[in-house]
Amino acid sequence: MLTIGIDKHPKPHTQAQYILLYENQVIISDDQFLFSLEDFQPDNKTSPVFCGTWQDNDVFVCLLGKKPAGLDSISLRDLLLRETESNFLILSRAQQLAHWNRDHQFCGRCGTKMTTKHDSEHTKICSSCNLRHYPRISPCIIVSIRKGNTILLARSPHMKEGMYSNIAGFVEAGEPLEEAVHREVFEEVGIRVKNIEYVGSQPWSFPHQLMVGFYAEYESGEITPAEGEIESADWFPISDLPLTSSLASISGQLIHSHCARIQENESYNTLTEH
Ligand SMILES: [Zn+2]
Repeated sequence: MLTIGIDKHPKPHTQAQYILLYENQVIISDDQFLFSLEDFQPDNKTSPVFCGTWQDNDVFVCLLGKKPAGLDSISLRDLLLRETESNFLILSRAQQLAHWNRDHQFCGRCGTKMTTKHDSEHTKICSSCNLRHYPRISPCIIVSIRKGNTILLARSPHMKEGMYSNIAGFVEAGEPLEEAVHREVFEEVGIRVKNIEYVGSQPWSFPHQLMVGFYAEYESGEITPAEGEIESADWFPISDLPLTSSLASISGQLIHSHCARIQENESYNTLTEH
């Protein structure tokens, strides 16, 4: 279990463990992604960021300028999709904090170099105008839509061949999550939905999304894929789905749990009809 903690953040120390990132790769050794200071030497450009306490260890992340010699790496996306839920959370957090630290070096209001960090939260405070800068988190909705015993799945041109997924998209400034579901579904496939129901959420660090998952039911309209965004979309029977996302992702989890629920309802309806 990852404890983010509200106490004073520790400074990097010799007993701590370190996640090493290089571009969008995670450095690994023998399939492990946690290193001690015996395994690597940070140079003076490396600035470790505290991620939390995990398995009784203080864990820091370092965004490296070059790949350490003799160590392997794996894409963060591949690693996330094969990891357990708790590893998923620490890796997602490490990626988001490391990129926040790199991308917020100057105050966005007055341009002063940011050198002051809050000592118990991830906040940079401008020494000149006092503006506070927090890690950026971008909410996105993702929704599984039901019509009878089918669900709607769509694919965008950049997806792996044959792969389908749910409708998803960024929440606009000032927009409630439910409105974002209505808008994204209508923009991407031209239909209206009803009975929107919150299911769960998952951080998705590419680069800093928080995926918020929903179920919804079809209300009206014909599927009309948005040009350039959706290559194809259709209603798929829950017993005959195409290739979909891994169960490590909220997309895969939504599809799986929604189909199980529809199946249960169908069984119940069949029982009560007889
Ligand atoms: Zn400032």
